Amino acid sequence: EFTDISLKDIDQLANTSFPLCMRHLFNRLREDHHLKHGGRMQLGLFLKGVGLNLENALAFWRAEFSQKVGSERFDKEYAYTVRHNYGKEGKRTDYTPYSCQKIISVTPSVGDHHGCPYRHFSEENLRAALSKMGVGGRAMDDVMDKVRNRHYQLACTMTFETIHAASCDSGINHPNQYFIQSRKLLE
Ligand code: SF4
Repeated sequence: EFTDISLKDIDQLANTSFPLCMRHLFNRLREDHHLKHGGRMQLGLFLKGVGLNLENALAFWRAEFSQKVGSERFDKEYAYTVRHNYGKEGKRTDYTPYSCQKIISVTPSVGDHHGCPYRHFSEENLRAALSKMGVGGRAMDDVMDKVRNRHYQLACTMTFETIHAASCDSGINHPNQYFIQSRKLLE
């Protein structure tokens, strides 16, 4: 079990322990100071799952979105979704983070950054992203081979194994599981 993660650690955690789908959303948010609805849901629920509490989540999203739309508009239009994800608005359902299966099955539109990069990136973009994570040579070929055969979760598992230099016998089936296993190895 993980206790609250603090905002000062979040970039380092993203760099070391987020799976590619979440790194991508995180980096786009840091760069564009904005994410469309699908991305806000996918990343927001993941962050909740890894231990970002509501107060920190509001601070995190506000810091980015206010650079783009202003803090007043953030509070008016976007803070609701953040609280909603934490079950504080609407039906007060406590939403759970998305599984790989769910993320892989979405159909992102132009300008969307959610989804699974192993499935939704072009080969060129995927190679570039993997290379940034430290995957290269033979491992890169193996990962791309899995992608060509539509074994996206196996491709993600191989990426995990390569960058952690450890085996992941259970395979990756949930982004939050990826995070937890990564922290176990790195902490
Ligand atoms: Fe994310 Fe799962 Fe795709 Fe890995 S396989 S990038 S954890 S959705």
